[in-house]
Amino acid sequence: MDSRTRLLLRQLPSVDELLQEPSIRETAKTLPRWAVVEAIREVLERRRRLIANGHSESMQADLSSRVALVAEAQRMARRLNRPALRRLINATGVVIHTNLGRAPLAEVAVERMVEVARGYSNLEYDLERGDRGSRQDHVERLLCRLTGAEAAFAVNNNAAAVLLVINTLAEGREVIVSRGELVEIGDSFRIPDIMRRAGGILREVGTTNRTYLRDYEDAVSPASAIILKVHTSNFRIQGFASQVPVAELAGLGEKTGLPVVEDVGSGALIDLSQLGLSKEPMPSESIRAGADLVTFSGDKLLGGPQAGLIVGKRLLVTRLRRNPLARAVRIDKLSLAALETTLRLYLDEGQAVAHVPVLQALVMPLQEIERRAGRLRDRITALASDHLEVSIIEGTSEVGGGALPLEAIPTRLVAVQAIRLTAQVLERRLRRTDPPAMVRIKGDRIVLDPRTVSEDELDTLAELIASVSVSNEADS
Ligand SMILES: *Cc1c(COP(=O)(O)O)cnc(C)c1O
Repeated sequence: MDSRTRLLLRQLPSVDELLQEPSIRETAKTLPRWAVVEAIREVLERRRRLIANGHSESMQADLSSRVALVAEAQRMARRLNRPALRRLINATGVVIHTNLGRAPLAEVAVERMVEVARGYSNLEYDLERGDRGSRQDHVERLLCRLTGAEAAFAVNNNAAAVLLVINTLAEGREVIVSRGELVEIGDSFRIPDIMRRAGGILREVGTTNRTYLRDYEDAVSPASAIILKVHTSNFRIQGFASQVPVAELAGLGEKTGLPVVEDVGSGALIDLSQLGLSKEPMPSESIRAGADLVTFSGDKLLGGPQAGLIVGKRLLVTRLRRNPLARAVRIDKLSLAALETTLRLYLDEGQAVAHVPVLQALVMPLQEIERRAGRLRDRITALASDHLEVSIIEGTSEVGGGALPLEAIPTRLVAVQAIRLTAQVLERRLRRTDPPAMVRIKGDRIVLDPRTVSEDELDTLAELIASVSVSNEADS
């Protein structure tokens, strides 16, 4: 270590010295002491590393500057004290955004969840009989009614549902599945991987683009356990392609005695084609077509909490219940409270469309989107017309969440261009506001899709945009 480096290191103040700085003492009045101390330690440690790594002279002059150190420590203390998981404004127009928490819950579901969280509940207690009950009792009847199934079982998420089904019905035996359906959903869920972990032996049939019923028939052997059909949620094979409908697989299942399981992924509980969107597979149709078990997510098109729903034959569901893994993937009480309330809304389709935010966003009339876009534009213009140019342009929203991947829903976008800042700088600054706002970049502008911005977020969003557009401080 050379002498200059040693000198710079010696010039760094101690933690205690910084704690005595007047502006740090001021900060410590509004923030907990642990956050201030931890921030100072971290900032000092970072400085030591930079100096030891021999940064350029001009930089080193700044590295020991106390003003800069203090400012950095204050910023970090505020960051440490903020919750890590926070609400944000989703102006991307992707309705079911996996990175942004998927489905926002219906207000009634939120209220029920809070109520159950706050006190004790009859989670596993049968109040009528005065005896131990099952947490599944709160949703099983609803799920059966909404899908036409005999029995139902709710778990932690759909990946867990698939894991539980394969492990219960096919451990050490073969799962017959089309090559065209060996999908990867998101970055961590691959059907072949989950199959292996569940103990099932993959028996691929057909080709990537075409699979016929006879491919399945040829694969049936004494080693077979189930026939699995997986919805290719997040992509479509178009052109020269065909997969076998679940009804035909059900026929084969009946002939061979093999249970037919379908993972429909998103699991729309109402027919989206009635709402002007493309059709997504519905669990009820799959049951009607003869599937023995159907699995789907709670927080995709259904618009409820994270959950995996399994519906189907009573005999098979009973086997799932008895698998010790069922305990490991069980649904928690808060999700269950939100799930029950969301499912209840579906008992009346009108109620579901009116109150489930995912459905509301998907069917929002263009007129309503235009109204919101107009309000957003006017607010932004009123606050920052000197710095920004705002206009309304045509664009498309996405369903997201691995549903209807080809569907581009017409929307109106509020396009914002800063006179002195690039779209990249605006976008980055908006991620760091409180609350953060997520936007898309289109050319040299950022665009905001009002479809996924709630009414009460519009003014906040306008204020955030105005605030990041005026500041001229160097962007870090
Ligand atoms: C999304 C999806 C899953 C995983 O569901 P999670 O609820 O996210 O665990 C599994 N299978 C299909 C077909 C899906 O679309």
